[in-house]
Amino acid sequence: MKAYILSVGDELTLGQTVDTNSAWLSQQLASIGCWICGHMTVPDDRAAIASAISEASRRCDVLLISGGLGPTKDDLTHQALADAMGVGLEMNEKWLAQLEEFFRIRRRPMVAANRVQAMLPIGCRMIENSCGTACGMHARVGDCDVYVMPGVPKEMFAMFTRDVLPQLRERANGAVILSRTLHTFGLGESNVAELLGDLMKRGRNPSVGTTVSGGIVSLRINARFPSLAEAQEKIAETEEACRQKLGDLIFGADGVTLPEALAPMLKENGITVATAESCTGGLLAGMFTDIPGSSSYFLQGWVTYSNESKVNLLGVNPQTIETHGAVSEPVVREMAENARRRACVDVALAISGIAGPDGGTPEKPVGTVCFALAHAGGVSARTIVHLGDRATVRDRSCKTALTMLRFHLLGKPLPF
Ligand code: AMP
Ligand code: MG
Repeated sequence: MKAYILSVGDELTLGQTVDTNSAWLSQQLASIGCWICGHMTVPDDRAAIASAISEASRRCDVLLISGGLGPTKDDLTHQALADAMGVGLEMNEKWLAQLEEFFRIRRRPMVAANRVQAMLPIGCRMIENSCGTACGMHARVGDCDVYVMPGVPKEMFAMFTRDVLPQLRERANGAVILSRTLHTFGLGESNVAELLGDLMKRGRNPSVGTTVSGGIVSLRINARFPSLAEAQEKIAETEEACRQKLGDLIFGADGVTLPEALAPMLKENGITVATAESCTGGLLAGMFTDIPGSSSYFLQGWVTYSNESKVNLLGVNPQTIETHGAVSEPVVREMAENARRRACVDVALAISGIAGPDGGTPEKPVGTVCFALAHAGGVSARTIVHLGDRATVRDRSCKTALTMLRFHLLGKPLPF
């Protein structure tokens, strides 16, 4: 089953309202194994809507439309659908009666404009709306089933769920698309793709694709099969194949974040943590403590932004700062070691870097960040140059520190 999604409204084409209906409908269709051929957005223009309906109906089995069903002059989807069907409009007495009832119950007069909402293309089926005055429509255009729903998301969700989805589910005959997302941090998208090799071949089912968000490279596995059982089996096989290729680079699946992935590793092994931060200003401590229950392993964090605070609060030797600069491995080593000792924790992470946009030098450009991890066996340190603006450098620095800790807990070297 192939579907097209059409959104109607000036506010959408002008960028004043974000088209959330298409995203939601796509997810719904995907869950029943429907292939989405495309999304289209057109303004409140009768000819534009009619030609979009005609064009889309030739390319798919199901066309879902939202918007343009209101009572005002800019709501033109009724006429446009009639144009695409090559028919006129007629009064739907059933919906008219329900509209009159709707207004009677609310003790409000029904204006003439509302009567227009009951004028439907001849030969289409009226779809009831339980929460508004715009009814939906179900029509055939060529070989395509066209469903028109209100633009108001709440009304669209209700109508789709109650009327449209059951019909499509029956047509889909048990077919499903299952999705699974696996997250990595540390390597670029192209490196991850290279490691995955043939698994990312176009046309494979389940398909494997990569996306990047906030420096996290995620693999999206989509399995399209005639039955749920088969889809589950195949997606598990592909997930295993991806894990074989990427190993511990994968820190979690679906909704899991890096600090969430770390939480059970720390909790189950009874490992306590402290942080000593300069350029990240407490963001790392924030990421740890975002997690409910983090008090069982996160004990303390320092924000030592100035040189003086590094010396006074963490006991960093002023000579070390003098000799190597505040952004240096010797300084973060001292920060981490002293934080570990002073907080009486198993591991301490330290970060010092140049977040920008100012403060870079030829030897230490903006984005240069030093990391250290102090643990029972010693201290390890790294310097990484992150690309991007201030917010990006700070965010990636925290994720790098979390990843250093993760690989330490796994007892493996950092893969980057
Ligand atoms: P309409 O049915 O075209 O009168 O739409 C009513 C309201 O629903 C609009 O003013 C928007 O605020 C909202 N809306 C319409 N289409 C969408 C859409 N595709 N995504 C999100 N909101 C929408
Ligand atoms: Mg509109």
